[in-house]
Amino acid sequence: MKTIRIRNSSLEYPINKIVCVGRNYAEHAKELGNEVPEKPVVFLKPSSAVIYSGGKIIYPSFSNEMHHETELVLLIGNTIKDASVEQAADSIAAYGVGLDMTLRDVQAELKKKGHPWTIAKCFDTSAVLSDFISKDEYRLNLDEEILLTVNGKVRQQEKLNMMLFKPAEIVGYISSLMTLEKGDLIFTGTPKGVGKVNKGDILNAEITGVAKLSCSVE
Ligand code: ZN
Repeated sequence: MKTIRIRNSSLEYPINKIVCVGRNYAEHAKELGNEVPEKPVVFLKPSSAVIYSGGKIIYPSFSNEMHHETELVLLIGNTIKDASVEQAADSIAAYGVGLDMTLRDVQAELKKKGHPWTIAKCFDTSAVLSDFISKDEYRLNLDEEILLTVNGKVRQQEKLNMMLFKPAEIVGYISSLMTLEKGDLIFTGTPKGVGKVNKGDILNAEITGVAKLSCSVE
């Protein structure tokens, strides 16, 4: 079973479901030619997609255009349903940084057909995770910067306060759609600057003062 490790703690959370939000930064929605949504776009990833910092992202045979999406990831610590913003904020146990690897060529075909994004988003190694920092140890203020370099070059760099929907709002909204439980992860969307990765690339992602990860593409 895959777990989330909390830094400076013996706590470990078995990973339950992974809920992802799309188009949560206006500039990123625009760069892919999408409208800025009135409600977050929501999709899922399986826990089988998870790898950790130090791991290898494997290019699936059915894509030639895998993109990086660097995201703040929230760990849910207790069961909530139809949560208020306060209850939603309380349910967030820890923060990390993650990569929502996406097969952009496959996704474009799926979008054209009106099909779900599953094949573009759920492949093995498509969810890369850092270790997490507990909310007791660090309070996110959204002044932090989210950053990704590929082979040492900056590809994505943005303040977290550019998110259209903030963490507690996202968690509250998702809890109106489905029960959230201990061990669920929420990917909160990516800022502008998404782009293709190639075999041999080295990716380093960070949320300043919060979490870091490093991985390669094979
Ligand atoms: Zn994403």
